[in-house]
Amino acid sequence: MKIPLALAAICIAPLFSSSLKAESTGSPFYGDAPDANHPWAVHDRNRPQPAVVTPGTFSTQEQPGKPPSDAVILFDGTEASLLKWAADKQPAEPTKWIVKEGALQCVPGSGYIRTKEEFGDCQLHVEWAEPADITGESQGRGNSGVFLMGMTEVQVLDSYKNSTYADGSAGSVYGVNPPMVNSLRPPGEWQSYDIVFRRPIYKDGKEVEPGTVTVMINGVLVQDHTPLEGGGGHKSRSKARPFPEKGPLKLQDHGNPVKYRNIWYRSLPARAVEGGTNGYLTEEATMAKRKEIAAGIRSDAAKLEGNAKLLCLMESLYYEKNEATLKQSEQLLDQFVANLKQVPADKLESKKGEVLQFRGALQYLAKAEVIPGTYPAAVEIAKMIKANEWDKKK
Ligand code: MG
Repeated sequence: MKIPLALAAICIAPLFSSSLKAESTGSPFYGDAPDANHPWAVHDRNRPQPAVVTPGTFSTQEQPGKPPSDAVILFDGTEASLLKWAADKQPAEPTKWIVKEGALQCVPGSGYIRTKEEFGDCQLHVEWAEPADITGESQGRGNSGVFLMGMTEVQVLDSYKNSTYADGSAGSVYGVNPPMVNSLRPPGEWQSYDIVFRRPIYKDGKEVEPGTVTVMINGVLVQDHTPLEGGGGHKSRSKARPFPEKGPLKLQDHGNPVKYRNIWYRSLPARAVEGGTNGYLTEEATMAKRKEIAAGIRSDAAKLEGNAKLLCLMESLYYEKNEATLKQSEQLLDQFVANLKQVPADKLESKKGEVLQFRGALQYLAKAEVIPGTYPAAVEIAKMIKANEWDKKK
């Protein structure tokens, strides 16, 4: 029996074949079953597919690259995208930073700018450049900064040949952690920051997962899941603290005409501790998800008939051991065995594929302790396989 495509997305009962290979046909009775912390089986075909994203292109010194298809553009070189920013003042007012030759340039003395849009965990791409004729030294040489959620600064500075305190050099989490290496280009050239930011998660006033930041400068890893430790700051050692769910991206005016281009971000999915369903889940979250998956499969099974229906019901059982489904499956299995017994001996060979598949499903459910190893239908099916020597390779 063929399964309608619309149903195949959730209820995966493979076609019968005597040369069935579970892996290639997507059998639901294949990888280790769901457990207390994983709602999906290993290699589970019911697990949602990743969303398709068209990748962008890399930038060159001459021109910025294209962002990936799901990126939110914050600055693309146009005057129009400047309207996505405001001076970091209350109440908000238009920024005095300017767009010049496709770049967003800091006008010293005009103050920080912030995005009107607010966001939290993200992948962020920012490119920046210092003037080729840069002057100054230490923190006074091309200082700016990328402030994640407006709260933690990834330092922007001409650190090409400019010594300063390490936890204040370009790519540092300012006041917290220096970059692992200095992979800057000379002033006048474009630098790229690729940042993965995760804010700290608090529950009932306690930190359950620390905030972290990962940074690449010009494609070179310089921060690797660096704990935020409160976000850092000037002179004072910051302490772990809650962050709001969202905040603006801010760029710093530190008195230097640093310029920016090609700024975009992609929001990241929720982590397991905040309700995300990928990763190692709590037992409570796992069981809730398993229940939801099982209900979806049972709903699809209700629209099917025959062996496909039975396989779907059996599949739902390893997500949730539902007594009514167990009973219905048992009745259908008994019926399957009774029907087999009616098949004339010379036609029995045609049933081999089905029988082996149900044997596989029953063994799988027994291993997952959903049904006992001595399940009556399983015993009957084992007898039939032995009597017909279907286990022997021919
Ligand atoms: Mg700075």
